[in-house]
Amino acid sequence: MAPSSPLLDTIIARLCAAQGVLLVGHVATDGDSLGSCLGLWHLLRGQGVPAYVVAAEKIPARFSFLPGVHSVITEATDYPPYWDVVVVMDCGDLRRTGLSETLLRCAVEVINIDHHQSNQGMLGTAWVDPRFAAVGQQVLALAEQAGWEVTPAVATCLYTALATDSGFFRHSNTSGAVLRDAATLLEAGADMRSIVENCLERKTLSELCLLREALSLLTQECDGRVTVLEIPFTVFARCGVEEAEMEGMIEYARAVPGTQIAVLLRAVQTDITKVSLRSRGSNDVSVVAMSFGGGGHLNAAGCTLHLPLSDVRAAVLAAVKQVLSCD
Ligand code: 5GP
Ligand code: MN
Repeated sequence: MAPSSPLLDTIIARLCAAQGVLLVGHVATDGDSLGSCLGLWHLLRGQGVPAYVVAAEKIPARFSFLPGVHSVITEATDYPPYWDVVVVMDCGDLRRTGLSETLLRCAVEVINIDHHQSNQGMLGTAWVDPRFAAVGQQVLALAEQAGWEVTPAVATCLYTALATDSGFFRHSNTSGAVLRDAATLLEAGADMRSIVENCLERKTLSELCLLREALSLLTQECDGRVTVLEIPFTVFARCGVEEAEMEGMIEYARAVPGTQIAVLLRAVQTDITKVSLRSRGSNDVSVVAMSFGGGGHLNAAGCTLHLPLSDVRAAVLAAVKQVLSCD
């Protein structure tokens, strides 16, 4: 997709010369964050570069099928003895990796590969381009410019990134280039059926329990232009669901006709609430998320507040109503 660029050449040269590369995504990992890390991990290992994917939290079960996932390091005690380059993917600041900033900063160089419009490009050697639908697409562009072989394992990881961040090719970021890249990855051997089964179709019993509870608490504001789902902390305990296992729930709020902005409020602790926002058209939810210390894209953003759900609901809905000019 991307034209050949000097920045990519610089990144490729630094990666190839590295003695050790840590690849890190963001907390509450998703298909793009993890798929991009693992895709680049396979590519670098293919070039003989020692690379390690490091995550702050345990990897959700729905990603167990990803090639290489069992090599992901989730314990600080298992860190490699040495690394000189850290690649931060799918987020724009070290805090969002959930890992020790001191540890990451001790690298000689930090490279940031991201596609969030809220990313100001201030982290190390930054390749931030919101025209890409997924970081996985950027990794493919990197591989193509470098002439690295896209093996079936690489293709499966990057297709996972592209498919999940485009809502399986339904969101407005699904361009012709996205579909062409998806075709390239499919032809390179991406295991499309495993990706669909694990990342789209799979719903555990506890997730279905959570969905039932959340739907019973669906409400609307602004004459139906805002649809809100909320999951109180007690519901988590009742259904036995881990926070990471809830991909796609907000789509039920967005699906209601007339909804301009969908809001999902999850009390992950009694005093910690995770907010997900989705919008249609030019309604910018990234500004709402950023005003609460989060970030994201125009039509999909999020933030986490250290407040109980009811307080967060009031504050976030006030900001959302401002975007829609309703009260
Ligand atoms: P989700 O609602 O699926 O968690 O996230 C939607 C989008 O917003 C994703 O691109 C995600 O990376 C971004 N996002 C969610 N939460 C945060 C946050 O706390 N900080 C930042 N910077 N971005 C977030
Ligand atoms: Mn992404």
